[in-house]
Amino acid sequence: MSYRVWGWGDPADEPTRAGLLELAPLVTASTGVPAQEPQTPGVVPDFPPSRHLAALPPSLRHLASDDPEDRARHGVGRSYRDLVRAMAGRLDSPPDLVLRPSDEQGVADVLSWAAEHGVPVIPFGGGSSVVGGVEPRDLPAAVSLDLSRLTGLVEVDEISRAVRLRAGTVGPAAEAAMKPHGLTLRFYPQSFERSTVGGWLATRAAGHFSTRLTHVDDLVESVRAVTPAGVWESRRLPGSGAGPSPDRLLLGSEGTLGVITEAWLRAQPRPAHRWSATLAAPDMATGGRAVRALVQAGLLPATCRLLDSREAALTGTLSSGEAALVLGFESLAAPVDAEAGLALQLCQDAGLRVLESGERGEAGEAWRSSFVRAPYLRESLLLLGVLVETFETAITWDRFDSLVASVTAATTQALHRVCGAGTVTCRLTHVYADGCAPYFTVLAPARRGSELAQWDEVKAAASDALVAAGATITHHHAVGRDHRHWYDQQRPDPFALALTGAKAAVDPAGILNPGVLLG
Ligand SMILES: Cc1cc2nc3c(=O)[nH]c(=O)nc-3n(C[C@H](O)[C@H](O)[C@H](O)COP(=O)(O)OP(=O)(O)OC[C@H]3O[C@@H](n4cnc5c(N)ncnc54)[C@H](O)[C@@H]3O)c2cc1C
Repeated sequence: MSYRVWGWGDPADEPTRAGLLELAPLVTASTGVPAQEPQTPGVVPDFPPSRHLAALPPSLRHLASDDPEDRARHGVGRSYRDLVRAMAGRLDSPPDLVLRPSDEQGVADVLSWAAEHGVPVIPFGGGSSVVGGVEPRDLPAAVSLDLSRLTGLVEVDEISRAVRLRAGTVGPAAEAAMKPHGLTLRFYPQSFERSTVGGWLATRAAGHFSTRLTHVDDLVESVRAVTPAGVWESRRLPGSGAGPSPDRLLLGSEGTLGVITEAWLRAQPRPAHRWSATLAAPDMATGGRAVRALVQAGLLPATCRLLDSREAALTGTLSSGEAALVLGFESLAAPVDAEAGLALQLCQDAGLRVLESGERGEAGEAWRSSFVRAPYLRESLLLLGVLVETFETAITWDRFDSLVASVTAATTQALHRVCGAGTVTCRLTHVYADGCAPYFTVLAPARRGSELAQWDEVKAAASDALVAAGATITHHHAVGRDHRHWYDQQRPDPFALALTGAKAAVDPAGILNPGVLLG
């Protein structure tokens, strides 16, 4: 199967057999999982011909592609399940067609054709969903509505410092367009390179800054979407108390209520002052207490990544067997000395050791570069037979220690039962005065051909443990198809009724991303 279907980078980034053989001993040594013979990716299978192409009205024909590779690319996201299936050439339910409108009218035309004929429509941004959000699972005749032609910066309000961006714009393109105006969103999910403005809004994505502006929600002034019932656009405001918020209901709607076409987002100048530090903590619980002390003292570090000892070693941040805390402050106007000094003092009081700190913001570089390289490295690990996946959550501080312990134990047990061995690591991605977002990584030996069954069992054990601990099934990865079972347990029943009613009102034919969130 071509790298374009499952790969993260350009075709030139595809891992080679020689490169994988060279990497194998390093993988075994650093992860503890024995690397296997490099896998040769499969080919795009013979898909059944498109059911809808011949019947499309002429106004939609020119938007449509039934090219097998195009269909394959739109049938998978970027979760472990997706990559395993795509690398093996096992795509059971590709979209019937890919439709690429270049304006809002085109989106509206696709939706009215689909509603008339009862065709499921799956909005597709960058396809970086890790929760089965873009996969037409059990929807054999669905079409993928690709937003990649609805791109660009449309308008800049330099007075209010806000930008109007089209939904299909990927992170680097948004930043490049804003740069001449001296503005940035400073919104960097790890999938920044490939994910889109519309995808961020539809999934309530979170950037890599640990406090203040965490979820994309914090940047939103207004959202515009096309629904089968008409255009849904919220009013552009800095805040409003006028009833339930129309933009908030679209945030996290994951393509089930409408197709987001553009949004006004808050922007800011680049920071002028930066400071960072790396500290060692005897263990995760002590590190957690230090982080809580920082945020409860009112400090808002831009970076506050607490890594357990295994993750600190794996990322090359710290190999002493201690947990690591990577801290960073930044500011537009004044130096951050006072905040930095107080943060170091609070951490030392909590029992942490300062390893490095400095104004240029270079401390924690090993962690940062491992963060950026991770999506590329993941592909190589999979091809070498390593089961590698992440899951994340959020919890209040009073339940933090017990959550990490119970989820790590349940997931490790499942890995040993299913894979015979395996490791679970944990870091904090986002921190709040009242709690934090723990993020877990699992590494285990995969059994070739049984990877999906293996992962499904481990994922179920981990998700059950999250819900049992009172945590959320996701802090920022979204619900998709993969988290439905646990999301249904988590949300209040009357809210589920309200959401079902809202969907029925704007999407009476039920064509928008069925199986995600609802239905
Ligand atoms: C390596 C990696 C790192 C990641 N890091 C992060 C991270 O740091 N933070 C984070 O929050 N997430 C992260 N993710 C998850 C993913 O990138 C986010 O969910 C992202 O917001 C998806 O954007 P996308 O454009 O790729 O959307 P897609 O994957 O194309 O779609 C995601 C969902 O949104 C819907 N959708 C997409 N566009 C629209 C639209 N215009 N209108 C309506 N519905 C739409 C789709 O139907 C689907 O349900 C990561 C994923 C990977 C693979």
